[in-house]
Amino acid sequence: MSKVIAIDGPSGAGKSSVSRIVGERLGFLHVDSGALYRIMTWQALARGVETSDPEAVAAFAPTVEIECRPENGAIAYYVGGEKPGDRIRTPEINAHASQVATVKAVRERITALLRGMTQYGDLVVEGRDITTAVFPDSPARFYLTASAEARARRRQKEEVEKGIANQSAESVKASLLARDAIDSTRKYAPLRKADGAVEIDSSDLTLEQVVETVLAALPSEWSPNS
Ligand code: C5P
Repeated sequence: MSKVIAIDGPSGAGKSSVSRIVGERLGFLHVDSGALYRIMTWQALARGVETSDPEAVAAFAPTVEIECRPENGAIAYYVGGEKPGDRIRTPEINAHASQVATVKAVRERITALLRGMTQYGDLVVEGRDITTAVFPDSPARFYLTASAEARARRRQKEEVEKGIANQSAESVKASLLARDAIDSTRKYAPLRKADGAVEIDSSDLTLEQVVETVLAALPSEWSPNS
């Protein structure tokens, strides 16, 4: 059976960087579940679906074709034969994704896709409901967090470096907090720290320190040296 490391936490807590590095060190595939919610949102907006109308989003959800393939240490996603790339990382997608993610039909579709990925091998899966709903029985579950300021700073830097947007730290923070509020109060699979998950506050830790903390908390037989 595949091993799954599950990492949840709010936006900008550093889940992607940590998951990618932990995956590389252990030879586990990195799975970015947020990208699937972003793809749904991108396609909904492209097809003129009203993202604030849950029934319209639910009817649309099964029609999006997403192909998932292991590639270079991660699960890559293709829509219509193309990778979405940074088209799913814009402020517009940020503003609509949490709304789309409240819809049960969207969550069920993505949960099924994520569970199916165990066929490809061992996984590091990051998101908002991985420890609580998608892989709640994993023996390696983490809740990664950081102060709102630290998270906004990191996200803003990333957006500028990638040339995605050039917003002030204040507007990035407002957008993060708005998403966190929707994510943690929604009816289905809200963001919360799972009982038994290891909580890591990364505000004052380096990336390497967070990675080391995760590796040290894994079942001993999962260690790269065992
Ligand atoms: O992780 P990322 O910021 O890319 O996720 C985008 C949005 O997708 C989140 O704000 C959240 O609303 C939703 N999401 C979710 N469950 C997950 C991953 C992401 O609801 N497992």
